Amino acid sequence: MFGKNLKRKPEKGDGKKLFVQEMFSTLQGECYLAGVPAVFVRLGGCNLACKFCDTEFESFKEISVEKIIEKTEKLAKNKRGKRVKNLVVITGGEPFRQPIEYLCKQLIKAKFKVQIETNGTIFRDLPKAVEVVCSPKAKAKIHGDLLPRINAFKFIISKNFDGYKNIWDAGQSASSAPVYIQPMDEYNARKNKANLECCKKLALEEGYYLSLQTHKIIGLD
Ligand code: SF4
Repeated sequence: MFGKNLKRKPEKGDGKKLFVQEMFSTLQGECYLAGVPAVFVRLGGCNLACKFCDTEFESFKEISVEKIIEKTEKLAKNKRGKRVKNLVVITGGEPFRQPIEYLCKQLIKAKFKVQIETNGTIFRDLPKAVEVVCSPKAKAKIHGDLLPRINAFKFIISKNFDGYKNIWDAGQSASSAPVYIQPMDEYNARKNKANLECCKKLALEEGYYLSLQTHKIIGLD
């Protein structure tokens, strides 16, 4: 978090157990599924250490996929026991760092739509139904095999961080996937306003789609 985390290498194995930071139900706040009720599975560890990263992902526990599915089913239900959330967002840390193929297959088998949020630097051959949102990180190359699997690019914009003042070609020019821009949250009202203004300008002048962290705006995790 804030660039202080260990840069962890990709994990090997059959993926029957994974390192999980937390699981919770919320609304997906960002990008093209913003507003959709979802169960979030936050996996532990990341292969990068971005200075602006505001996510805690280093106090994870190893949990079996069966237990993850069980908890997902529980979180997806309302108080009357009816499933009301059909989307599972796997995020991190960096979710592709772990062998998540088995988890994705089991979630699809349980009739969940699966969306992965990734920095795009690691590739795993996931089921075709899995949707991928790639948030490129400055100076980090997107894995060539992942590019055709990306459903949307989401660039984080900041007036203060080098590499985030504008967007660069991370592979989106050769892709038909939409490009979103999202103001970085720097926990400073003046800086956040400047980042939002920058995004508004880029959206209007370049045609990028604006993504806001709506979960934060409405006070959800
Ligand atoms: S890639 Fe994402 S999760 Fe990893 S350190 Fe950067 S912002 Fe945080």
